[in-house]
Amino acid sequence: MSRVLIIGAGGVGRVVTHKCAQLPTIFSEIWLASRTLSKCNQIASEIKGRSIHTAKVDADDVSELVTLIRTIEPKMVINVALPYQDLSIMDACLETGIDYLDTANYEPRDEAKFEYKWQWAYQQRFKDAGLMALLGSGFDPGVTNVFIAYALKHHFDQIDSVDILDCNAGDHGYPFATNFNLEINIREVTANGRYFDEGKWIETQPMEISRVFDFPEIGPRKMFLLYHEEVESLTKHIPVRQMRFWMTFGESYLKHLEVIQNLGLDSIEPMEFQGQQIIPLQFLKALLPDPASLGPRTKGKTNIGCIIHGVKDGKPASRYIYNICDHEISYKETCAQGVSYTTGAPAMIGAKMILEGKWRQPGVWNMEQFDPDPFMQDLIRYGLPWHDVACHIDIDDLPVS
Ligand code: NDP
Repeated sequence: MSRVLIIGAGGVGRVVTHKCAQLPTIFSEIWLASRTLSKCNQIASEIKGRSIHTAKVDADDVSELVTLIRTIEPKMVINVALPYQDLSIMDACLETGIDYLDTANYEPRDEAKFEYKWQWAYQQRFKDAGLMALLGSGFDPGVTNVFIAYALKHHFDQIDSVDILDCNAGDHGYPFATNFNLEINIREVTANGRYFDEGKWIETQPMEISRVFDFPEIGPRKMFLLYHEEVESLTKHIPVRQMRFWMTFGESYLKHLEVIQNLGLDSIEPMEFQGQQIIPLQFLKALLPDPASLGPRTKGKTNIGCIIHGVKDGKPASRYIYNICDHEISYKETCAQGVSYTTGAPAMIGAKMILEGKWRQPGVWNMEQFDPDPFMQDLIRYGLPWHDVACHIDIDDLPVS
């Protein structure tokens, strides 16, 4: 029986709250806190048959967080606010002696750069305090890390290459909107691409490398090589020759993105506008639909998975492990679209792994460092069933367009 504190009442926070509420024996008391109290109350009102406690907190402010945590006395904090708040929430967890979980690695607000180094630096402090921090318990990072750990445990003696493929074929009917926080999304896709090859990092221009892949239950989609945070932790923890991350983008998204960049609306540099300081990217965010409002409009599916090549018993082996998630089914269950669902459900499962003691270990950990089996079983039980099939596709042989 455990009281949990969820921080961040966005799309992902909504799903985490709904999913935790479905398991009263594990999550006996649920608190949802965020910057805007009305968003917490809205989510609480959607959940029938369970009372969700809500609170207002500025998660950039460690002392405010410490006061809230001391009042609530949760067993753990599930951080689904923005990556900017990771360190302040980790600091507050250390100060109050509480376990921590998040779904995205820390990013400084004034520099579009995400790396694990800031959070890995907390390793000794969490260990010494007997506390656990589980990093990146979403889908990618998160489930994709667990897929690869599962493949290594059950299908390979040695992994040679991994391609992580992320396709969102959802249609929300708007010419341009992002399925999760716009600022984080644009910062991610406009950054240089980067992949791991023969022990080195190879940098590419944004969207420079593309392939067309025929996604099961979706069809052919053009995907682009991006840098994604799980590649950093996975290549540290699992020996591999090559690892790449690919994400699909539609024509309309790309056309709008090009215009946004040409106009400078993707800039995170503060500027003066009519006597006020504004950040162009935050101004753009205010103009566009709130990702949380896309839920009832989004149709179609997501397909996220890993193609893995390697060796088993001296012979070449290849697997494709993937999940397909339907936006409309996600919405029916949690009032949120599939991108929030595929992130929030694994956050709940990661928290469950810690609270049940299956994964609990003092220190700062990434998902691939634990036994993947109980997590994989819970994915099936809690809404994200997966496929695990032989696959001999070499991404390099696929057409560019
Ligand atoms: P949203 O923007 O929808 O929600 C973020 C929430 O955090 C908002 O409710 C916001 O409050 C709140 N928040 C922001 N700043 C603060 C603060 N200083 N104090 C308290 N609350 C704050 O984002 P998502 O729900 O889409 O994403 C949540 C997290 O999940 C992000 O870190 C994102 O990067 C991550 N993610 C991970 C994925 C994965 O697969 N691993 C995939 C998708 C997302 P307000 O509304 O009042 O501003």
